[in-house]
Amino acid sequence: MIALILAVLSIVLFIMIGFFSSIYYSNTKQDQMAIDEILHFYTSRGVETTDNRNIFGKDKKLPMRPYFYLIVEDGEIIDFKKNMPSNNDMFPKNGEVNKKPLEEMLPIEIDYSKIYELIDGKENSGTIKYEDNYFLYDSAEVDNGRMYVFLDTTLTHSYFKNSIRTGILVLILTFLYILLIGRKILDKALDPLELSIENQKRFTGDASHELRTPLTAMRSNLDILINYDLSKEEQETWLLNISNEVERMTKLTNDLLLLSRNDVIVKEKDDFNLSEIFEKVYLSYQNICEINVRNGDFLVYGNREEMIQLIMIFIDNGIKYNSKENKKIDISAEMDKSHKHFTISISDNGDGIDSSKYDSIFERFYREDKARTSSQNGFGLGLSIAKNIINDYDGKVKIKSEINEGTTFKLILNNKK
Ligand code: ADP
Repeated sequence: MIALILAVLSIVLFIMIGFFSSIYYSNTKQDQMAIDEILHFYTSRGVETTDNRNIFGKDKKLPMRPYFYLIVEDGEIIDFKKNMPSNNDMFPKNGEVNKKPLEEMLPIEIDYSKIYELIDGKENSGTIKYEDNYFLYDSAEVDNGRMYVFLDTTLTHSYFKNSIRTGILVLILTFLYILLIGRKILDKALDPLELSIENQKRFTGDASHELRTPLTAMRSNLDILINYDLSKEEQETWLLNISNEVERMTKLTNDLLLLSRNDVIVKEKDDFNLSEIFEKVYLSYQNICEINVRNGDFLVYGNREEMIQLIMIFIDNGIKYNSKENKKIDISAEMDKSHKHFTISISDNGDGIDSSKYDSIFERFYREDKARTSSQNGFGLGLSIAKNIINDYDGKVKIKSEINEGTTFKLILNNKK
């Protein structure tokens, strides 16, 4: 963030310095050229020849800039003169309107001896400040001594001052603007982070809660076994209970491990035929329910074990959340023409899902209330694991369900390498 602010500020600063200094440089150069022209005018024509004539303007050889000169011989000022182009010279069309610029130039009264004091003993050219005005000066030998020409450069100076002031203002405004924008960006960037911390907290809380339940059950079963004089059959019942809880806990810890490792583990991927997977799944479930598999004779890219797990989660649910005697599962698959996507549909004839629950069932630890109360059902992690696998395929799920009729999950998966 700070690096971004610094980068933008330095770019703005760089552009500004470049812009202002190029204008300042060209103005200073123009000032120097004007003074050279004035000196050249007098040295080539002689000082006297120019008296009482309007000498400014393009054709008349003098640049239209306010200036004065003094001629010094043996440390004495022997001549001086102030020359100011008229408004009509400078602004031929609307001189009246533009009077102001001229009035601001060249002080009305100039004390020439004071000016000479300022430059006496110094270089033959340079800059001086007299009252509130700045002058660039240069000199050359003329017939009767040394002529010093002073060009009023107050405007160039004030331009420079104004530029620095504007520059600082622009910098401050840019800084404030970036800070404001930066805060907004930072807030936005932190939103998902806060959400993920919140999710993580909830996940840990829910997981501990779920782990505590079988532990409490086991503990009370063990208490009974230790504290009561039970017959062999009675002991077996309590031990069976404990064994069931151990099984549930093993399943839960496995699920938790799967969920937490999903992002970290690099899964081996290759091409495999989907019908191979369907075959395995069919063999595992043929004695538990009526299961039909169709199509799927094509190659897809991914991790085999993960694919088996994905399909099994949906089959398990189709059996678990089904109150009918005759439980049916249908599985089919299709590859699209471009071979970029394939779909797997898993249908059951179970209890169905209310459409308002379509999103929540994929949340971690989400269970329907009726599922929560039954100890045979899961922990609400199955579909979260499924969602992680689907995300690995950049895929999505479509649900079609009718209460007491059944549910179809259509998985649309990317077949990308
Ligand atoms: P669990 O691992 O406890 O089965 P899941 O995440 O797999 O949890 O499912 C969450 C909830 O979604 C279940 O409690 C159940 O209410 C509902 N559900 C999932 N699949 C089905 C299905 N095929 N038919 C009806 N309800 C389902």
